[in-house]
Amino acid sequence: LPVLAIVGRPNVGKSALVNRIIGRREAVVEDTPGVTRDRVNYKAEWNNRHFTIVDTGGWEPDAKGIDASVAAQAEIAIDLADAVLFVVDATVGPTSTDEHVVRMLRATKKPVILVANKVDDVHQESDAAALWSLGLGQPWPSSAVHGRGVADLLDHVLTVLPEISTVAKEEVGGPRRVAILGRPNVGKSSLLNKTAGEERVVVNDLAGTTRDPVDEQIELGGKFWRFVDTAGIRRRVALAQGADFYATLRTSAALEKAEVAVVIFDVSQPLSVQDLKIVDLVLESGRALVLAFNKWDLLDDERRDLLEREIDKDLGHVAWAPRVNISAKTGRHMEKLVPALELALESWDTRIPTGKFNALLAELTQEHPHPLRGGKQPRILFGTQASSRPPTFVLFTTGFLDPQYRRFITRRLREIFGFDGSPIQVNMRVRE
Ligand code: GDP
Repeated sequence: LPVLAIVGRPNVGKSALVNRIIGRREAVVEDTPGVTRDRVNYKAEWNNRHFTIVDTGGWEPDAKGIDASVAAQAEIAIDLADAVLFVVDATVGPTSTDEHVVRMLRATKKPVILVANKVDDVHQESDAAALWSLGLGQPWPSSAVHGRGVADLLDHVLTVLPEISTVAKEEVGGPRRVAILGRPNVGKSSLLNKTAGEERVVVNDLAGTTRDPVDEQIELGGKFWRFVDTAGIRRRVALAQGADFYATLRTSAALEKAEVAVVIFDVSQPLSVQDLKIVDLVLESGRALVLAFNKWDLLDDERRDLLEREIDKDLGHVAWAPRVNISAKTGRHMEKLVPALELALESWDTRIPTGKFNALLAELTQEHPHPLRGGKQPRILFGTQASSRPPTFVLFTTGFLDPQYRRFITRRLREIFGFDGSPIQVNMRVRE
């Protein structure tokens, strides 16, 4: 889906606007200083067009950190969104922070829409008009809280937002898109340098004036691959506050653009909460997954035993993901990465013919019928694969299936078809 990013200073009304657009009270309440939101991606729809909203404002910096945090928002939006909504508080007028961000936004070719928020009634329209001075074109007056102007704003958004993501457009026959993920220092840029077969300069570009390409195409195993958001890996931005939040934001946005994720772990360190959170983000995104255990050269026997136990304990739920044990430094087993990516993508693309799927369902229900509930037995009437990428199945049933029974079906599907490297989903439609 195309990605619309929302950027702006704290308290200008970003989450109110997100709420208004998605029509739910899901993005967190405003005016709660110090709140860090976990959720950054929201599915939105307007006039039958679907898109993803990335709310970059989930971190509430203190006064000192505002410039850096809004700059970080803008940078991520410029790199990873298809269009940017820049929200300004029209009752306050442009601040120096706003002007700083405007310089970054004007350097991008991506569409930028200026929202003059908190224009609650017609008498405040002149506040909005004053924002022409920012040089971002027409300010769109809106009141996120009251809904005023938001419909016009969204109509305009749809005219500048590409129908499908600019990256997804290359989907047919183009290079497959890979996100390299992992917490700092696990070896992401080392892996990139090793796969590309050359050392590259790490670009430090906070100002965003000369933007290097966000993605890189690399030929591996006779095929081109697109590594998404390598700019985010190569550009090491030191942020005094909110570094974790911006890392999560960047990871979520990169996943939107990717088809398969390689999550890198540093085997010389215990698996951390942050590592597991990244795996969770991949699962939430529905992308294919490969696990890469890096710095294998540093492993001694003792740490190796510990690692295997940590993996059993914390990564048991993704035991289906192909695993490569590598060293980006020595090059150990680096050649196994491409086959792992190919396997994961093949699973992700899989379509099981309906006839075959129903024959299998018949076998499974014979082998292990659903337990009786209140004297009745929920039956599966029919099943079909609704979509691939990732494989998603729908079962039409005469009653709710126990979660346990659904897990049984999911497990057997994996045993039979593999789906190595891809999440799969089994949904239910009850026909009374
Ligand atoms: P990033 O922050 O994830 O991009 O991590 P880097 O690629 O910058 O690596 C962080 C540090 O780990 C650097 O000092 C690398 O030289 C080192 N490193 C990366 N991969 C390996 C590896 O396989 N073995 C060893 N021993 N060190 C590594």
